[in-house]
Amino acid sequence: MLQQILKELAPTETTLVAVSKTKPVERIQQMYEEGQRIFGENRVQELVEKEAVLPKDIEWHQIGHLQTNKVKYIAPFVSLIHAVDSLKLLKEINKQALKNERVIDCLLQFHIAEESSKFGFDEAEVKEILNSSAFKNLSNIRIVGVMGMATFTSDEEQVKLEFRHLKEIFDGLRKSFFSTQDSFKEISMGMSGDYQLAIAEGSTMVRIGSLLFGSR
Ligand SMILES: *Cc1c(COP(=O)(O)O)cnc(C)c1O
Repeated sequence: MLQQILKELAPTETTLVAVSKTKPVERIQQMYEEGQRIFGENRVQELVEKEAVLPKDIEWHQIGHLQTNKVKYIAPFVSLIHAVDSLKLLKEINKQALKNERVIDCLLQFHIAEESSKFGFDEAEVKEILNSSAFKNLSNIRIVGVMGMATFTSDEEQVKLEFRHLKEIFDGLRKSFFSTQDSFKEISMGMSGDYQLAIAEGSTMVRIGSLLFGSR
């Protein structure tokens, strides 16, 4: 399945984040041996435990909602935090990155779905943050793009429009805030059930779990 998905992603150069949450380290090791290097987890404790025993050249992505008090555990090694949804969290990531003498890459999570349960910013909130002096002082984080989750629905048209909306947000931010920063280039959208729609709408990074590892 890995090779099949990689072949599908290759023409658009979309990055695959293999979402290994709840799956044992043996399965991750197996996929590592097949060549996969980027894995995503959504629970900090699980991520920390897996990182400790698996090969050091794995790029670990924190993909799920992140609590401020847990940032310190992943700050030494995490390569991308997908779901940043508050200035408070950004400040904490910056603080922990500084302690670890590194810069941590982050994506801003936007609320694009209909469901009220999903986390994320709206555009106005992000613009206010990006314009604030508090944000400008955060020297140890780097915003490299945006992330979003579409509504869980079989209505493909709706999912497509939500992904399109995220792409528009990305384009707007790039123009207004990141036009001189080439590293602002990622649009993390698309999961097992909707990644093809996401790619058609400009995703650069898909987060695929169950399709790769089987259902949870
Ligand atoms: C679990 C999860 C995924 C992967 O979901 P699948 O449907 O198994 O592909 C992607 N993104 C986030 C944030 C997740 O928590």
